[in-house]
Amino acid sequence: MKISLNHVPAVDVHCHPYEANQEPYTNDEFVRKLSLAVIPNKTPEDYVRKEKDPFQGTNMWMQILIKRLANYYSCEPTLEAVVAERNVRARNFRQYTRELFQDANLTGLIADFGYPTPMLDREAYVDLCGARIWEIHRIEPLMVRLRQECDTFGEFAERFRAELNEALKRHEVVGLKSIIAYRSGLEIAGKNETAALHQYAEFQDNERAEVKALRDFCLHIAMEECTRSEKVMHIHTGIGDGEVVLPKASPSFLIDMLRDKSYQDTKVHLVHGGYPWVEEAAFIVSILPNVYMDISLQNPFAGHGVERILSQVFEFAPFDKVMYGSDAFTVPEMNWMGVHLFKECFEKVLHGWVDADYMDVDTALAIGEMVLYRNFENVYRKHIE
Ligand SMILES: [Zn+2]
Repeated sequence: MKISLNHVPAVDVHCHPYEANQEPYTNDEFVRKLSLAVIPNKTPEDYVRKEKDPFQGTNMWMQILIKRLANYYSCEPTLEAVVAERNVRARNFRQYTRELFQDANLTGLIADFGYPTPMLDREAYVDLCGARIWEIHRIEPLMVRLRQECDTFGEFAERFRAELNEALKRHEVVGLKSIIAYRSGLEIAGKNETAALHQYAEFQDNERAEVKALRDFCLHIAMEECTRSEKVMHIHTGIGDGEVVLPKASPSFLIDMLRDKSYQDTKVHLVHGGYPWVEEAAFIVSILPNVYMDISLQNPFAGHGVERILSQVFEFAPFDKVMYGSDAFTVPEMNWMGVHLFKECFEKVLHGWVDADYMDVDTALAIGEMVLYRNFENVYRKHIE
């Protein structure tokens, strides 16, 4: 019997809002929107491109997207044809986005409004995509603002905690998020208020300063507030855009903090499942009862690698600890491709498990549903109804 996840709804547990582009995209602009690079791709002036060569700067995930979008639009499978058709359809961006969401059976999102900046309007995004939206509240923009408003570290620390507490009281906010992996890395030291105080002046001068002790201190406060409110702490792990502190981004750096007795009741969500160190994240969620992971970013941006990754993740991760995600951040095609690529890759993995006689078809289908939306419901149940 064929395993199909086509009918299964999906909840995307990590992605970002976007808005309509004002002008139609050029081919280069569209490729740039699909890229994680901070620095634009540069094609040498003497670059020779032959007829069947992929468009310059495209990689495997973009190639798959071009092919799948061409099927969806019924157009030629070239970047040029896809961009031309996209520009026509996206004139009504709301309808275009909603159709993509419906085609993917994407019913809900946990959105990180911390990117892009300035922050987009929540209601406008809800109206645009037509799905249910829950939010996580990023701690770093709050730190940046308070450093300008507070003369002393004492006042900063007090207001930081109070404002996190306020944010967590909002019904639609399911947790906090930190991108400390983009600033000082994931090797979090114990909470040290004196060391943090000594770095406050430097942070007041430069919002991007490393100030590791101060950032670690703020993450501990965020963990404490999530614990108290019983909401979920999201921590960016693994690669991201080109600014990530790559040598300190693997999830194993977090393990001392995660094992700390004072956080044994804190729910932690490892965003991006630590890619490319997915096995580390899978191991961590297998040994710590309140730690979960998603497969966003690696899905869909690892392209054909999504099948391999899903197989690897479940070498250690319990079936109820992994959630679907995309990290879509500029265009709705990312949300759409995320669901479709995940489903086609996971179907292949599940088939392999059934063929190997590890489980029957019904159990394989149940695992597909768990990752696509039921694990999300179990982890977030208290805050989504
Ligand atoms: Zn993200």
